[in-house]
Amino acid sequence: MSRRILLIEDNEQNRYLLTFLLEQNGDCVRLAEDGLRGVEMARAETPDLILLDIQLPRMDGYAVAAALRQTEALRKVPIVAVTSYAMAGDREKALAAGCDGYIEKPINPDTFVAEIAQFTQPGRAIREMP
Ligand code: MN
Repeated sequence: MSRRILLIEDNEQNRYLLTFLLEQNGDCVRLAEDGLRGVEMARAETPDLILLDIQLPRMDGYAVAAALRQTEALRKVPIVAVTSYAMAGDREKALAAGCDGYIEKPINPDTFVAEIAQFTQPGRAIREMP
């Protein structure tokens, strides 16, 4: 079954590349270009997976993840941060905000689809947020 994936990313080239890879994999991709729009779309559509940039206009990825985790219907939707932040502590910050995982940019086009597959496996462990 094709996954419904919400990609929240303000960079057009990144949107293009990830959409290309995911659609080639049979996924259905929806796009949000800023954080606030991403929250609205996630709440309206309850996607199977959310790919979340961190540096975003209007609302950064940490705030987006925290807002989504406050939304009952979205508490179990996997959120994977996809970000060029490479400083120590950013991974922990993304996880603390409610993300399930973290992939660094530049993404590897040969392995990206495989890297995110674990987050939509049936029976995967759900992180319980406090
Ligand atoms: Mn960005």
